[in-house]
Amino acid sequence: MSDTIFDKILAKQIPAQIVYEDNDVLAFRDISPQAKVHVLVIPKKKARNLNELRSWRPEDVGIFFQKVASVAEQLGLAGSGYRTVLNTGHEGGQSVDYVHAHILGGESLSGRFA
Ligand code: AMP
Repeated sequence: MSDTIFDKILAKQIPAQIVYEDNDVLAFRDISPQAKVHVLVIPKKKARNLNELRSWRPEDVGIFFQKVASVAEQLGLAGSGYRTVLNTGHEGGQSVDYVHAHILGGESLSGRFA
């Protein structure tokens, strides 16, 4: 599996504004924010996208999503609410082939999915 920009951020080969890191995940600010708060959460164990998470142990998938919620809470968004997005594949708008959850918030978001 070739290295993506997120592999390089994880390896600390290129800089990112890291907001949270533990043994399971790394969370950093999106370089092109689409909301006042826009953070990406990636698992340290690599998968290309949601399709590939089907081969993971359900426990590990659960841990990833719990950590996404924990990062949102740490960002102060748990009470006000936020949007989580996972784009999968070309038609899903995925531009980086390393699974990542977008956390968008800090303001009232218009539209349900856009
Ligand atoms: P997606 O289109 O769902 O694959 O999302 C990829 C996201 O990664 C986009 O929102 C980009 O703005 C973001 N992105 C690309 N390069 C970087 C980077 N070096 N640091 C932080 N975010 C990035």
